[in-house]
Amino acid sequence: MEAKLQELKNRLVEVNDLESIGAVLNWDQSTYMPPGGAPARGRQMGTLALLTHQKATDPEIGHLLDDLRPYEESLPYDSDDASLIRVARRQYELNTKVPPAFMAQLQSHMAESYDLWTRARPANDFRMVQPALEKTLDMSRQLANFFPGYEHIADPLIDYADYGMKASSVRAVFNELRDSLVPIVQQITAQQPADDSCLHQVFPEEQQLAFGLDVIKRFGYDFNRGRQDKTHHPFMTKFSLGDVRITTRVKERDLGEAIFSTMHESGHAMYEMGINRSYEGTPLASGTSSGVHESQSRTWENLVGRSRSFWEFFYPRLQGVFRQQLGNVSLDTFYRAINKVQRSLIRTDADEVTYNLHPIIRFNLELELLEGSLEIRDLPEVWRERYASAIGVAPPDDKDGVLQDVHWYGGIIGGAFQGYTLGNILGAQFYAAALQAHPEIPAQIADGEFRTLHEWLRENIYQHGSKFTADELVKRVTGGPLDIKPFIAYLKKKYGAIYNLN
Ligand code: ZN
Repeated sequence: MEAKLQELKNRLVEVNDLESIGAVLNWDQSTYMPPGGAPARGRQMGTLALLTHQKATDPEIGHLLDDLRPYEESLPYDSDDASLIRVARRQYELNTKVPPAFMAQLQSHMAESYDLWTRARPANDFRMVQPALEKTLDMSRQLANFFPGYEHIADPLIDYADYGMKASSVRAVFNELRDSLVPIVQQITAQQPADDSCLHQVFPEEQQLAFGLDVIKRFGYDFNRGRQDKTHHPFMTKFSLGDVRITTRVKERDLGEAIFSTMHESGHAMYEMGINRSYEGTPLASGTSSGVHESQSRTWENLVGRSRSFWEFFYPRLQGVFRQQLGNVSLDTFYRAINKVQRSLIRTDADEVTYNLHPIIRFNLELELLEGSLEIRDLPEVWRERYASAIGVAPPDDKDGVLQDVHWYGGIIGGAFQGYTLGNILGAQFYAAALQAHPEIPAQIADGEFRTLHEWLRENIYQHGSKFTADELVKRVTGGPLDIKPFIAYLKKKYGAIYNLN
C-alpha cells in the first residue's frame, strides 16, 4: 500500500507540475509578455493543456485509486492520506467523465467567444456574441449531461465550482438572503447618499501601490513567497505553496480601486499560503471551493478592510501619504465614503449591502437558461427587467447590462456566480466564529495588529486546503450549516450605525 500511495502521489505531483507551468505562462501573458508573443503562447498553452489532460486521466491513476480504496477506508476520514485519495478520486472522475475531444472543442469555443466579447462589449452589441452564447449554453448543457443522475441540470456545474452545493439548496439560501436584504437596501437608499468625492481626487499611482503593499504586509502576506504586479483585471495565482502571486490595478482618480483589490487578492493568496506545506504538489494543496475562497478574500477586503477599526489605525497613515488630498477630510467622512451604499448597475463596483443582489440575479438567469425557460435572445431584456425590479435601476445599454461580466463569454453558463455570494455568507460566518473565540480582534485591528485573526484563519481554514468541503468546513468551524444570519447581523450592525437604522 505504501508503494502504491507513493506511486499515486508521484503521478499527482506530475499533473500538478504541468498545471503550475501553465499558471506561470498565464501569469506572464497577463503581466509582461509583449503582444508579439500571443500566437505562440496560445499554442504553447494548448499543447500543455493536452499533456496535462493525458497525465491526469492516465488509467493507471484509476487503478491505483481502486487498489487504495481498502487502505482509505481503514483510515479516519480526516487523515491526510484518506483525504488525499478521496480528493484525487473525485478529480479523476471529473477529468475522465468528459471526453477529451469535447473538452478541446469547448476550450476553443470559449476562446473564440471571449474574443468576440472583448469587441462586443465596447461596441455595446449583444447580437455580435449572441450566436456564440447560444452555442455556449448548448455546450454547457452537454457538459452537465456527462454527469447524469442530477436533480437540476445546473447541479453538476455548480458542484464543479462549489462541491456539494445544488441548485435547490443555493436557491433557497439566496431567496432568504434577498428577502432580508431588500428592506435594508430600501431603508439606506431612502436617505441622502454618502459623499464619496474625497476618493475621486488625483492619487498618484506609486503612492497608492506602496500603501497597499504596506497594508497586506501587516495582514501577513509573505513577500518571500509572493509578489504583486499590475494587470487589467486583478487576480491571484499560485505556482507552488512557496510562490503565490497577486495582481492589482490602479486608477489615479479612484483611491478605492487598488487598495481594496490588493486586500481582496491578498486574502485569496494568504489562504493558499497557509495550506499545510506537506500537501505541496497534491490535490489537497489548494483552497476548497470558490465560495470558501471568496469568503477569505472578502474577509480581508470588507470585514477587515472596510471596518472602522482598520481605518482608525490606517487612516492617519493614508493622510500622511496624501496630505494634500485627505489632510482636511475627517475619518468619519472617509469611512462613510468607502462604505457608500447605492443602487448600481455594475456587480464589481457594488457595495457590501447591495452586492449580493447582483450574483443572485445572474444565478437565477443561469438556472432558467439551462432549464430552457429563458432564451439567449431574450437575455438583454430580461436582464433589464430583473435589475429594475431587484435593484431598482435598469441599465441604459447592454454594455453595462448583460455584457458586463466576462464569465459567460469566457466560460460556461452554470456555476459561475453563486460562489461570490456564498463567499460573503461564509466569510461572515467564519469571522463571527473568530470573534467569538477572540473578542479582542477588533481592538487589535485598531492597533494595526492582525496576527490573532490570521493565525485563527490559518488554524481553522487555511491549513486544511481541499481536505474538507465547504459544508464540512463550516460545520467544523461554526458547529452548524451555512447560515445567512451572521452576514445579515453584520450588515445591520455596521450600516445601522452609519445610517442610523432602527
Ligand atoms: Zn475573489
